Amino acid sequence: MSFHLPADLLDRPTPYYLYDLNLLERTLHMLQQAAQAHNVQVHYALKANANLPVLERVQQAGFGADCVSGNEVQRALDAGFAPDHIVFAGVGKSDAEINLALTADIWCFNAESGQELEVLNELAGAQGRRARVALRVNPNVDAHTHHYITTGLDANKFGINLSDLPATVELLESLPHLELVGLHAHIGSQITNLSVFEQLSHKINELQTWLEDKGYQLPHLNVGGGLGINYDDPDTDPIPDFEAYFAAFGQHLHRRAGQQVHVELGRSVVAQCGTLVSRVLYVKQSQQTNFAILDAGMTELIRPALYGSHHHIQNVTSTAKTDKTYDVVGPICESSDTFGKGILLPETKRGDLIALRSAGAYGEVMSSEYNLREKTTPVYVG
Ligand SMILES: *Cc1c(COP(=O)(O)O)cnc(C)c1O
Repeated sequence: MSFHLPADLLDRPTPYYLYDLNLLERTLHMLQQAAQAHNVQVHYALKANANLPVLERVQQAGFGADCVSGNEVQRALDAGFAPDHIVFAGVGKSDAEINLALTADIWCFNAESGQELEVLNELAGAQGRRARVALRVNPNVDAHTHHYITTGLDANKFGINLSDLPATVELLESLPHLELVGLHAHIGSQITNLSVFEQLSHKINELQTWLEDKGYQLPHLNVGGGLGINYDDPDTDPIPDFEAYFAAFGQHLHRRAGQQVHVELGRSVVAQCGTLVSRVLYVKQSQQTNFAILDAGMTELIRPALYGSHHHIQNVTSTAKTDKTYDVVGPICESSDTFGKGILLPETKRGDLIALRSAGAYGEVMSSEYNLREKTTPVYVG
């Protein structure tokens, strides 16, 4: 299987995101099978891609929603997710966001600090409710991924540091409007080394035993998301190995009888079904290199500029027999607005269509109007 652009899209104005809903559905099906085999509940992380056609399919496949803002909670509700399948994480939940989620009676708040617990307790009390919370711990496990997408080390702002955990658990005893239902961790993204999930399991096992010694039985364990995808070769691995991912936890997590395990996957669900389609505006030669200047830039896809990440780049219309190397860049007035350097492409000219692959996650959701650029309109096929 490889990427090709439907003929009726060849003349469509660029740039735009193209989503293959057929691949999305096959991905959801594989995920569903693996999750059921391991008896794990999946919450899709909306922040990866919150477009309604995507959310509706995720919801219809039977998954819950993992939200990191009040607007994401609202979007999840709008897309048809049941409140009792919604979790809400984030280090900086505002009072308004907490109130919205309380009013909707979502299933669980993943709380990230003692102060947040105090505020949540107060707001829940004011609404005459008892909020379910899971403590998001920072297990100090290195995700071995880019430092900007590592979230589970002591130096990161996320979660409750292990050294603060005893005081936080003690604090909980004085907060009558909260009910502790579980432990939560999310240690980073684009994790391709599954031994990281093994280490995470060991850490959670220790914490669970420690909490049980204190008299807490946890009905739920939420191990977060982070499963990576193959950006270099999307056609070889269009669907991530969900089975191996669940097996890592199945083997190493000490699950108690009747305990429910949850995961929160974003990237691995949607990344491969999205492509940013762009047109070559100009080809410019300098002493050192050829630049292929696209009509898409960091305003549409910021990951390369933000994390130095790589998306597979294809010229989908050139029929040239010879290849050349190009620095593939956008039109934005920033030198970091570069999609790739020294990329081998068939000889490329003005008007050619370029596909930036694996862009379904953290692509369109991060787009901006910097330089007063127009917002793009997505296209769905399948
Ligand atoms: C971003 C995020 C996820 C999803 O991460 P992926 O790497 O896209 O799977 C899950 N849980 C939380 C709390 C997050 O912030």
